[in-house]
Amino acid sequence: MTELFGQSSFDSQHPPERELLDDCVHCGFCLPTCPTYQLWGEEMDSPRGRIYLMDLAERGEIGLEGAFTQHIDACLGCMACVTACPSGVQYDRLLEATRPQIERNVERRPSDRLFRNAIFALFPYRRRLRVAAVFGQAYQKSGLPKLMERVLPPRLRATQALLPPVRLREAFASLPRRVRPKGSVRRRVALLSGCVQDVFFHEVNAATQRVLAAEGCEVLTPRQQGCCGALELHAGRSGSAADRAKRTIATFEKLPVDTIVVNVAGCGSSMKEYVHLLADDPDWADRARDFSAKVRDVTELLAELEPQAPRRRIEAKVAYHDACHLGHAQGVRDQPRAVLRTIPGLDVVDLPEAELCCGSAGIYNLVQPEPAAELGQRKADNVRTVAPDLLVTANPGCLLQIRRYLDDDIPMLHPVQLLDQSLNGKPT
Ligand code: SF4
Ligand code: SF4
Repeated sequence: MTELFGQSSFDSQHPPERELLDDCVHCGFCLPTCPTYQLWGEEMDSPRGRIYLMDLAERGEIGLEGAFTQHIDACLGCMACVTACPSGVQYDRLLEATRPQIERNVERRPSDRLFRNAIFALFPYRRRLRVAAVFGQAYQKSGLPKLMERVLPPRLRATQALLPPVRLREAFASLPRRVRPKGSVRRRVALLSGCVQDVFFHEVNAATQRVLAAEGCEVLTPRQQGCCGALELHAGRSGSAADRAKRTIATFEKLPVDTIVVNVAGCGSSMKEYVHLLADDPDWADRARDFSAKVRDVTELLAELEPQAPRRRIEAKVAYHDACHLGHAQGVRDQPRAVLRTIPGLDVVDLPEAELCCGSAGIYNLVQPEPAAELGQRKADNVRTVAPDLLVTANPGCLLQIRRYLDDDIPMLHPVQLLDQSLNGKPT
């Protein structure tokens, strides 16, 4: 429990830094892009308000329990405020310092704790996810989901609705460890196949391997890799996230590659943050810095490479949705669009309110289902406005979230799946 004696309410393990808090000049330019401020119009649910709360807690004027935790929990971590801030306030660093303080020092309600623990006991583990996929498929086929929809509490209803259609063949499929290009090798890269991505989005990983090989990359996909720790890092579980970061670094640094490719926006952003996460660990700081410097989103890498493989024409209007952890957190906005525009015939359009989060945000749509639903509905309405033939986004969480509210017949793909269709004629 935190104490209020004029000392900081944060413990001594990496509290939000005073200099970073002081960077905020309270101008309010970030407010219009903040999804929770858009929803509720409450100052304390804006970036400026949250920084003010952190400032008060750092001065020991408020504790971490109650309103403080509630307003920080309500933050999506979408980092739209980082993009919008003209003063360069590093809200990402502030939030990443604050969330672990809550996890360590605030007693959550037993049901909340249980639900969060259940998420982290399942999602980072591929074997457990495969077992869950078997039960999930049986459940989806049983007709029970419709019945249960009326009786489940909101969080479990959201979990059920977000479960992707389970295809067991894909859930249990494994990727080739090495894929070579037909011609000469332009780049030698390693691929993070992930945890949830590996089980529920195997086809995106397979498309990534094919597309990179077609563009002259030799792709190594180590079998022993596991979860990169992104969900835990963004939820404030920094200890377990650091353990996963170390395991991921140890796996990939052995490989003779100059680039580590990721096709999940949230994973890419956390792997680029390892440099900060492990900065104080003398055994890992340099290794984390070297590792983070090699991480690229797949669209960043493809945009770096001069296209060499012939593309088939695809006549379609494609709406591109910026995943927050790609656009706001990594600043990768032009590359996915540039890669898509290498496909002849494709009309790539942007969405209205493109900077606004869809409500997915890691585990946010599971633990905060009501605001996530409002944001999901709003994103789906914005998609319908441009009437695309396809919706494309580089994050599986966004795909699942938007699909839930976009019940129209608009297919949704990862950019590499569309490129794969153009390069290799693979059905998507
Ligand atoms: S991270 Fe997103 S939700 Fe959180 S304060 Fe910034 S803009 Fe608002
Ligand atoms: S975070 Fe940046 S944009 Fe927002 S109030 Fe502070 S200085 Fe202004």
